Amino acid sequence: RAGHVAVIGRPNVGKSTLVNALVGAKVSIVSNRPQTTRHRLLGIATFPEGQLVLVDTPGLHRDQGRSSASAMHRWMNRAARGALEGVDAALLVVQAGRWDEEDSAAWQLLHEAGVPVVLVVNQVDRMKDKAALLPFLAAAADGREFASVHPVSALKRTGLEALVGALLPLL
Ligand code: GDP
Ligand code: MG
Repeated sequence: RAGHVAVIGRPNVGKSTLVNALVGAKVSIVSNRPQTTRHRLLGIATFPEGQLVLVDTPGLHRDQGRSSASAMHRWMNRAARGALEGVDAALLVVQAGRWDEEDSAAWQLLHEAGVPVVLVVNQVDRMKDKAALLPFLAAAADGREFASVHPVSALKRTGLEALVGALLPLL
């Protein structure tokens, strides 16, 4: 299996750290699928079961520095939707213990675009109250359709095997 996976999320949730952890030290193999100019290649993660072409979707979040609802609303234009063409699945990366309207808007856009969304609840290692994780996961998933939900620590590299295991069958 192989496919294009968009990595979406607010600034500083840990997208780059996650990409680095997934790509690791493995040799990158160039995808034989055509790359579109819509996507910026972040890295290629190769596993025995398949390959993830991790891409940024620049049209979706041009204002990296601006964490606001209005920045998210700009996603809702045609150009933004175009940015998701050729994307097989998306990782919506959020910070454990903190869900905000920007995360909701991102899910909404991906959902409307028909892209399967895997929720990555990152930075679980930073959660002081471990008992708060389950209610957070339940609240995040409430009323939203995720292909799967994964608490991970990109920094400590925990939960990534299960994440990849859930992602590859979507491609
Ligand atoms: P991005 O803006 O979404 O690409 O976020 P980065 O990957 O640049 O990460 C932002 C900050 O969060 C950096 O200081 C990372 O080291 C830190 N970070 C990322 N993932 C984790 C994690 O799982 N746990 C902890 N404790 N810190 C993390
Ligand atoms: Mg980054």
